[in-house]
Amino acid sequence: MYIRVNPRDNVAIVVESDGVAPGATEAGGLVVRERIPQGHKIALRKLAAGEPILRYGEVIGYANRDILGGHWVREELIDMPAARPLDQLPLATAVPAALPPLEGYTFEGYANPDGSVGTRNLLGIGTTVQCVAPTVDYAVRRIETELLPRFPNVDGVVAITHNYGCGVAIDAPGAAIPIRTLRHIALHANLAADPLMVSLGCEKLQPARLFGASEPSPASLPQSLPILDGSNVIRLQDERGFAEMVAAILSAAEKRLARLNQRRRTTRPASDLVVGLQCGGSDAFSGVTANPAVGFAADLLVRAGASVLFSEVTEVRDAVHLLTPRAATPDVGRALIREMRWYDEYLARGGADRSANTTPGNKRGGLANIVEKALGSVAKAGTTALRAVASHGEKVTSKGLVFAATPASDFICGTGQLASMNLHVFTTGEGSPYGLALVPVVKVSSRTALAEKWPDLIDLDAGRIATGQATIEEVGWELFRFILAVSSGRQTWAEHWGLANAMAPFNPGPVT
Ligand code: CA
Repeated sequence: MYIRVNPRDNVAIVVESDGVAPGATEAGGLVVRERIPQGHKIALRKLAAGEPILRYGEVIGYANRDILGGHWVREELIDMPAARPLDQLPLATAVPAALPPLEGYTFEGYANPDGSVGTRNLLGIGTTVQCVAPTVDYAVRRIETELLPRFPNVDGVVAITHNYGCGVAIDAPGAAIPIRTLRHIALHANLAADPLMVSLGCEKLQPARLFGASEPSPASLPQSLPILDGSNVIRLQDERGFAEMVAAILSAAEKRLARLNQRRRTTRPASDLVVGLQCGGSDAFSGVTANPAVGFAADLLVRAGASVLFSEVTEVRDAVHLLTPRAATPDVGRALIREMRWYDEYLARGGADRSANTTPGNKRGGLANIVEKALGSVAKAGTTALRAVASHGEKVTSKGLVFAATPASDFICGTGQLASMNLHVFTTGEGSPYGLALVPVVKVSSRTALAEKWPDLIDLDAGRIATGQATIEEVGWELFRFILAVSSGRQTWAEHWGLANAMAPFNPGPVT
């Protein structure tokens, strides 16, 4: 049994979990000529040396020798195409018509004074620098045992620790990215947009700078911001000894917990959702099961008025020609190209290109190269018009489908999307127990075998699409309804086990 995605394709993906054996006869009388593992590609006819190999109706590479029908189209038989030039892409030439609005879908969320809406009610303790992280972690353990039980409406306490803040070239252009990422995370909707900050005192990323101008230009910084009054920032170097530091954090935390405990969920339209999408540990099924189902759910969310973010520059780069025509305006298309170009240059400075993206697990799962991976990855973006583009760490304010630039690295992408999102959807083929402390992470498997192996980590199995037990539309609707339930308080498996990856803000700037 195999899956051919597009009628033009000359390769297809083997479905059986044990692969197929030589001599087996496939649809159309195709005879399997060698053992081919699950998720890997079978040649549907003879491919001559130099001929394009087509999957998703797109060129994923060129045969570097003759390949007979029924043979395994392995990575080493495929030459990867060069990256597509960015200067002649069609802009806004095929803008999809708006789909009919979806009315009446709601969730129970926490409304904030700034207009954002939380899906959880958390006390967050932000930090300006890594030096304070162990002290904040210590304080959080005390808060959890000594204070939190008295505030039953608060879902938890999160130490927002990270490895940025000092020992960096903070005036270099790249510094703007981690700084704005951390600022937006400190003001996150699930933290009531009301940060408690812990600073060391001598660090480069002073609280005023963190909450100041959007670019790190000292002259333009406001001298005082309401957010930075004494009750919001604790400077450890102002305290006398460790016990006083911890006491100061606990005292400030207790006041905030009392405020947070007064909050109640209210019925909110689905348009208040900001859903971040990403994939990790992808395999060849990701692009035919999980990602298209997520894409269908993305269309439903867009129809309901929500914001949907897709990211991961190196997994969009090789599908950019499919996205620039979908840009709502030429300016949006140009912004997408700007992000691709910036990342091309960033990789080139490091002596790499987008092909550095694929992992051994991707290849074991049947993905030959980054072109094949990207074509499957962008299925998450559904079919609607691309409404806006946000650069790394910028907060997304547009409704509809938005490209929010991040690296593809799971934990860096998740951290970048936290600048905006209040719920995360993560698709996986090889599997990852990934989670985030600030938002619920809904995990969708591309294969049923993974969902059966990890029944206590995978929230939704999209592998049923490959075996014909469910359609893309059915799984898409299931995911949409699950997103609304989780946004209203239903726990994901990652939350159940308390799985939270460390914050990893993207820092393209120099370290000193
Ligand atoms: Ca990823």
